Amino acid sequence: MDLNRIRRFTYSVNTVILLLVIGLAGFFYLCKATILLWFSIPTLLVYVIGYAIIAKDRLDIYVRLVYFWITLYMCLCTYCLGYKIGFHLYCMSMIPIIFYTEYMADKLGRKKINAFVVSGIIAICYLISTGYAGFKGPLYEVDNAIAGSFWAFNSVIVLAFLVFYSRLMLSLIGDYEKKLRQTAQVDKLTGLYNRHYMAGKLETSMSEGKPQFITMVDIDDFKKINDRYGHNAGDYVLVNVARIMREVCSESSVSRWGGEEFLILTYGSLEEGLPVIEKFRQRVESEDFIFGEQHIKVTVTAGAFAYTAGITADKWISAADDNLYKGKKSGKNKVVS
Ligand code: GH3
Ligand code: MG
Ligand code: MG
Repeated sequence: MDLNRIRRFTYSVNTVILLLVIGLAGFFYLCKATILLWFSIPTLLVYVIGYAIIAKDRLDIYVRLVYFWITLYMCLCTYCLGYKIGFHLYCMSMIPIIFYTEYMADKLGRKKINAFVVSGIIAICYLISTGYAGFKGPLYEVDNAIAGSFWAFNSVIVLAFLVFYSRLMLSLIGDYEKKLRQTAQVDKLTGLYNRHYMAGKLETSMSEGKPQFITMVDIDDFKKINDRYGHNAGDYVLVNVARIMREVCSESSVSRWGGEEFLILTYGSLEEGLPVIEKFRQRVESEDFIFGEQHIKVTVTAGAFAYTAGITADKWISAADDNLYKGKKSGKNKVVS
């Protein structure tokens, strides 16, 4: 969540609480709970001021104020109406959200909130208010049916909140995991697998022992492309060679091995798979790479080598590299196996 979304979300939360306070003031009026009715006035003020605090981007002050006030409100309601009404249950939802707030404040470089201390204070207030109400009985008598309905209403709100919150947390964790995996596996410029990931994939694939081969691909005279058209043009060529590779070699795992070198892992025999590599080479040769006003001629050389049982990954890659070298030595723009 970015800061703007958090701010919008906080405005909505503030509005929901404000409406709830107004509704509850009506309920206190019906119960003749005078203390709570009077207490609703400063409570309303807190949430009206809350809008100004959010607008000033002081979410740290807002969270502290709201947490202080909700705890006070909850304790006073429990003291006045007893715990049968279920106001104390809101503690259960306040504790997880303060940990989330602490995490977000830290992530956004905002003033830190000590969630551990806050939740400790909430827990103490919870124990004192429910203990006192249980021991002494409520200050105002509320009809059992009304108290029961309120208890059910508050329970549903708290449970619904916990379900929503747990789902939100899991989806956030899922998103971060996806991003992390992406960063760990994918080359930022081309979107292909990176070398680190591909090296692991080669090891796994070798252990399966299936017929397979690798192809080392290198863009020809890439330094000249950079020198003549600029580094950005070079990047553009890399991105588009990668795109063609992904399109043509869609059955293979394709990676950026380094600079302007790519490594392709293909299952099946060389005889079956090599025509696809050759097709890729031809596609690059015939593609019109246009960067700005410039038409850039691009070719690639590839060296392939089939997997043989007992070979190490390093030796396998060196063998493909040797074939690539032969291709470079014998005029480039070709596939050697
Ligand atoms: P050959 O045909 O023998 O492969 O020659 P070459 O010029 O392609 O090879 P050389 O190794 O001499 O040059 C590779 C160049 O690739 C040098 C380096 O600056 C450039 N390069 C490496 N990574 C990037 C990159 O991410 N972007 C750009 N634009 N250039 C890169
Ligand atoms: Mg190279
Ligand atoms: Mg090159």
